[in-house]
Amino acid sequence: MKINQERLIDSFIKLVQIDSESGEEREIIDYLQSELRNLIFKCEIDKTGNLIASNGSKPVVALTAHVDTVKPGKDIKPIITKDGLIKTDGSTILGADDKTGVASILEILRTLNENNKSVQLEIIFTVQEETGLIGSKNLDFKAIKSKQALNLDAEPGHIIIGEPANMCFDIEVLGKTAHAMHPEKGINAIEIAAKSIEKIKWGRIDEETTLNVGVIKGGLARNIVPDRVLIEAEVRSRSASKFKLHCQEVIKIFEETAKAMGGKVIVKSR
Ligand SMILES: [Zn+2]
Repeated sequence: MKINQERLIDSFIKLVQIDSESGEEREIIDYLQSELRNLIFKCEIDKTGNLIASNGSKPVVALTAHVDTVKPGKDIKPIITKDGLIKTDGSTILGADDKTGVASILEILRTLNENNKSVQLEIIFTVQEETGLIGSKNLDFKAIKSKQALNLDAEPGHIIIGEPANMCFDIEVLGKTAHAMHPEKGINAIEIAAKSIEKIKWGRIDEETTLNVGVIKGGLARNIVPDRVLIEAEVRSRSASKFKLHCQEVIKIFEETAKAMGGKVIVKSR
């Protein structure tokens, strides 16, 4: 089977000229719905506005792309240069992210169709990706039958099979200030922080999990027991269970250590 390059480019040019800044995807979703129906796909739009379509009850894979673009993405005028590059007049974005993915999916379906290849597929076009994956986070997963999906939204030539979750911690360790000559009256926040850091295994935990403590700030003067230390740390993992475990462990160790030494911690995580 041969991809019709000319049709692919025409399709891309058409797609980028349909305005679809995040939150304003109705027009492009309607257009894609009618194109998919022409290719004998059953379509539904979920309550978030995502388009879910399939041409059979047992799809082998889902092909997905997001239809929204960043700003300024209205009234885009694509230009094809002599070298075959597609760009704009400079007053707007082009919208290649992710209209290239959308155009590729349409071309795959048209190519299969004209070659009379029947492959059961599911197509998922999501909205509001650029503003925080709102479409895919709220996707009606119950309506999806595929066990695997190819999301066409990465650098050409790359296949990404996993990405880590990332938790950022801002840990405020609180003790009690005192003069260095009366240490028994104080609670040393630097000591609480140091002991907590000592108890945690940092660096590479396994092939999919890393922990890092990257910033420590605190103390006012050599002769003052410090009452406040700020620590910035992070946990990354591609495993949801390990991610949760290590995030909980970081908080627990800081809290327990602080408590045992008479201090406390305030942990902000995001
Ligand atoms: Zn994208």
